[in-house]
Amino acid sequence: MKRPTVIIRECPDYDPERVRVLAREALEYLDLHPTGRTLVKPNCVASGPHFPHAYTRPEFLEGVLRALQDRADPGLKELALGERCGITIPTRFAFDQAKYYPMAKRLGVKLYHFDEEPQVQVPLYHPERLRDALFTPEPVARADFFVNCPKFKAHPWTTVTFSMKNYIGIQDDRHRLIDHDHRLNEKVADLQAIIQPQFIAIDGIIAGEGRMLTPIPFDLGLVIMGDNQVAFDAVCCHIIGLDPLSVDHIRMAHERGYGPVDLDAIDIVGDLDLAQAQARAKGFRTGLIRVEDYFEGTNISAYAGPPPTDGGHDYCWGGCPGALEEAIEILRLYDTGTDSKMPRVHIVFGAYDGPINAQPGEKVVFMGDCARYHGDVAGKPVQIDSIYRDRSTKDPLEAKHADIYAKMITVGMHLRTLNSADIVRIAGCPVSVAEQVLALVKLGKLRNPYLDPTQALPFTSCYLSWRTRTLMSRILGVPYNKVGPTERGAARPVQNLPPPDADTPLEVS
Ligand code: SF4
Repeated sequence: MKRPTVIIRECPDYDPERVRVLAREALEYLDLHPTGRTLVKPNCVASGPHFPHAYTRPEFLEGVLRALQDRADPGLKELALGERCGITIPTRFAFDQAKYYPMAKRLGVKLYHFDEEPQVQVPLYHPERLRDALFTPEPVARADFFVNCPKFKAHPWTTVTFSMKNYIGIQDDRHRLIDHDHRLNEKVADLQAIIQPQFIAIDGIIAGEGRMLTPIPFDLGLVIMGDNQVAFDAVCCHIIGLDPLSVDHIRMAHERGYGPVDLDAIDIVGDLDLAQAQARAKGFRTGLIRVEDYFEGTNISAYAGPPPTDGGHDYCWGGCPGALEEAIEILRLYDTGTDSKMPRVHIVFGAYDGPINAQPGEKVVFMGDCARYHGDVAGKPVQIDSIYRDRSTKDPLEAKHADIYAKMITVGMHLRTLNSADIVRIAGCPVSVAEQVLALVKLGKLRNPYLDPTQALPFTSCYLSWRTRTLMSRILGVPYNKVGPTERGAARPVQNLPPPDADTPLEVS
């Protein structure tokens, strides 16, 4: 059997022609020819001037897409790029801010907004699965040749986001948030069963340290490519001096037979060897910092008890605490006075049983369904019980789309109770980054990034375009979820879903 190969190439800047040559040479070396429906999945979780290092750059994608065109076989029916960006944001807005539209137009490449596509059910069979099936947008399910183009970044939930973690964007909002909790690594490992890429090319020219939405730029100057996702992620881990087996989703995918992590089982080629790549990445910081430590020295005191016991975790790495870290960093970008404006606030996660050092009048927020506390706050007895629902009770077929304007109203309603009391729970599992941004906006009377005047017009335009399209599909009876057996996955049982916004009105107030 062919050994997995990882190719490490030097690339000092975002020159599309240079990336094209590197990607074409890699495709030649790996003897790969795009065919049928070829789909490229970037990481476009957030983009634009406030998030310059969070996403796969369009120059990089242009190079890879041109190389795929160069190497296409006569059977190529479609070359497309598809993504679901960070939840609640229209993917149209993320693509617009990332400048993907002019790039795709120049190249004649189709764009898929996964939040507007029919969702296809893919059954899982491996014994360790969290669920019996996962949903994914139809273009992913029917792709004949799948190309993963992630961004080389650290991650506060999963340590790193390389190739495998990029799969969180092959689900729409309804399904992405299910199991996005203390078992997130298992979810990412399960997502591997949907599809495996024939080719991977990561944007490591300017990598992202520390966080995933607002990473600190790290001049790595590398384009890394390969043909096996586990081997690829393992080599990326080694480049930053991390044991790949310490990253749970990589370990699980390896144990399930998706590929090797042992360097002796991987061919590493290119114009830099592993030691040279490691020298470039020296000092790269990953993102696994507990929330208590993250907020030390600020007006926010965080307290984290364990999440529910399934999975045996003592901290919810994949859910609410990490979302709070991302939320504060976003707010700091939009409002430089964030830290000074924020009053003393106490935020509690999980089943916490230590002291809460709140003075009378200071606000205490219990974040997430699993928050539980029986004790004193500012000298008064407080009892908060968990309202966590076991994941077995969460049916993906009943998952609802969460609209950003609806979230603003809901979070606002939750926090209004803080006017008359000092304690509030914000429900959800997870409470998303967007909701925690909105909560902090209210608590600190900060600028709301969703209403930022420099972006209000394109955001609203993309939002209305997105919602109008999905609404028209329903009104016109277009089979929004027209899924039957896909051409490529003809053996897969599939199931129709209602449109993602069927329960959410278009009107906003
Ligand atoms: S409520 Fe939040 S902290 Fe608790 S399990 Fe869910 S995601 Fe984790």
